[in-house]
Amino acid sequence: MQYNYDFELAALLLMIIIFLHFVSIRQFPEEKNKVFGRLLGVCIAETAFNIASSIGLANTDFIPQIVNEFLAFAFFVLEGLCSWLMFQYVLLLCAFEKEKTKKISIFGSIPFVIFGLFVLANPWIGFYFYMEDGRYHQGFGADFGYLYIIFYYVLNIALIFIRKRIVDRYIKIVIISCAILAVAQILIQFYARGMLLTSAGNLFFVFMVYLAMQNPSGFLDPVTGVGNESAFTIFMTEMLKHDDHHMVVTVAVRQFQQINKLFGVENCNHLLEEIAGYFYKLCGKHCVFHMSGDSFTLLLTEDEAGRKILQQVQERFQKEWQIKQNPILLESLIIVQHFPEDFSTLPEYRGQWQFMMDRAKQNRGQQKFETDPKLLAEYERQTALEEVLQNAVKEKAFQVYYQPIYSLKDKRIVSLEALVRMQDPKLGFVSPDEFIPLAEKNGSIFQIGAIVLEECCRFLSKHVLPNPSLGIKTIQMNVSPAQCMQQNMCDSILPVLEQYHIPPSMITLEVTESAAVHAPELMQHHMEALGATGIRFAADDYGSGNSNFSNLIRFPFREVKIDKKVTWAYFENDVAKVILENEIKIMEQLGIPVVAEGVEEKEQSDVLEQLGVEYIQGYYYGKPMPEKECLRYIRNFISEPEEYGK
Ligand code: C2E
Ligand code: CA
Ligand code: CA
Repeated sequence: MQYNYDFELAALLLMIIIFLHFVSIRQFPEEKNKVFGRLLGVCIAETAFNIASSIGLANTDFIPQIVNEFLAFAFFVLEGLCSWLMFQYVLLLCAFEKEKTKKISIFGSIPFVIFGLFVLANPWIGFYFYMEDGRYHQGFGADFGYLYIIFYYVLNIALIFIRKRIVDRYIKIVIISCAILAVAQILIQFYARGMLLTSAGNLFFVFMVYLAMQNPSGFLDPVTGVGNESAFTIFMTEMLKHDDHHMVVTVAVRQFQQINKLFGVENCNHLLEEIAGYFYKLCGKHCVFHMSGDSFTLLLTEDEAGRKILQQVQERFQKEWQIKQNPILLESLIIVQHFPEDFSTLPEYRGQWQFMMDRAKQNRGQQKFETDPKLLAEYERQTALEEVLQNAVKEKAFQVYYQPIYSLKDKRIVSLEALVRMQDPKLGFVSPDEFIPLAEKNGSIFQIGAIVLEECCRFLSKHVLPNPSLGIKTIQMNVSPAQCMQQNMCDSILPVLEQYHIPPSMITLEVTESAAVHAPELMQHHMEALGATGIRFAADDYGSGNSNFSNLIRFPFREVKIDKKVTWAYFENDVAKVILENEIKIMEQLGIPVVAEGVEEKEQSDVLEQLGVEYIQGYYYGKPMPEKECLRYIRNFISEPEEYGK
């Protein structure tokens, strides 16, 4: 019988092209890649044997029967393998848990074993085919071969439907189309037995999958040529399946943004290439990933060799790198996390990584941050806090404390700073220094801001406005930089003041200079719009960051609050003394009143008064207190100032 193998020839050619592309580009040694490589090889071999077998059967005059028998036998072996490998590939795409994957794999391999046993027995029982008078005949079990192929397509479809949330939509389409194509191909072969189409279905599968999933350029970072974030995720997922001990090391360049600005993007890309090349040589092919602009991740084994590489990386950053032939010393930041000791899932790894990064940002002097029991315990506390914070926001479980601000000129308490408090049954008292940064990150700072504002207004309208004898002229509220970046900041404040009939002049909003500098135009707009109603702004924590007098001139601050650390430094350090003395003089000349924070002793208050400070806030004049206690404190302060030693 003559077979038409035109389709097979075309398919063979295309599969060889895919194969060449697949092996010429660096592949990650991931299980999925390995299975795909095997599948591609088997498909090519199956097609080649199918063609060879067709040629053999067309030329039985001079090709011995034993050769034709062998070719057909080999074709059946490869056909069996091909469907089974497709199933293995789909199973990996479905990413079931380890145990489940094993069970499904065993169940799904049963038909493969039966098919294989019949293939092995075929020379004796002629199950799939037999040769007679040099001609090929279908055996009594030939239809089982078709059923076998259909079984695997049905199983693949079932798997992707069970895991429909995980499997990509495109891959679903490919697998369903392959199944339809396979059925069509089997039907065509029933009626046109001379037409060979086996490879058409295989080609469709490998071609579509390769385009979408296996194309390795999707996993490479175009700038540095090392793996990108997707490749890292795949690698980590693979690593998490095994218990081999690893170190996941992040290496970031601290001044990357400045370098980018100074030398330009192109030179910076060359620098990244140089760094990537160094890591590549040091750690080997598959262990280097370029994540974001300034950071690389290295996967190292947890042993002497891994430790040695880590040491070498640290030492390398003590030496210069080249940017446009200019030697530059880079400030590096190294974060080391351990698997499986520290984390067992990807989200856990990422949460911990973010925590370590935040720590590193607060501590610029330190180069290496490695997880240890103390750090991990702090991370656990932060995770617990995040949960507590969410509940507290839902239940509005915050309290506002008030701390007196004393006027040295009027010799009385004239203002109060509202300071938020969170109390949790399990974690106890939580300092705002701890939960405000978390609230800024998860966005609940807006709700907290609203709760504090409403609480302050209620307090003012109930206790302060009806009692002018208390002498409280203003209440000072902290506003986070995130709140200042809202377009509708005015709308979230003014209606509440109106509702409680609070004159806006009783409100001072404390913002840090950095908040103003982050979004200068917006901040200027807010300050002008709210300033027009009478609300005042104070520059909080002055002197703790990169303070700049030009900010005091640019933004209409009506008060400057000297950070408590700056106050304390004045009494300990001669340089700080000179700076603060001059700053206070400048503030005086600009006509901006100064509040000194953190005053804990009479002597400090006296010295600051001499310098020209107008207001004092600190434990000496009162700690933050709950509202009732604070009111009692102010009344006692007015009636018996001597008792307080003031
Ligand atoms: P801050 O605005 O600098 O507030 C002053 C902090 O210094 C308060 O800490 C206060 O208790 C403390 N303090 C005042 N006088 C002394 C003193 O003499 N000695 C010492 N050792 N400490 C003193 P607190 O209440 O823990 O607040 C910490 C920070 O949390 C605040 O710093 C502020 O940045 C933030 N915060 C507090 N409440 C809010 C709020 O409602 N909204 C926002 N966005 N932030 C808030
Ligand atoms: Ca403040
Ligand atoms: Ca402050």
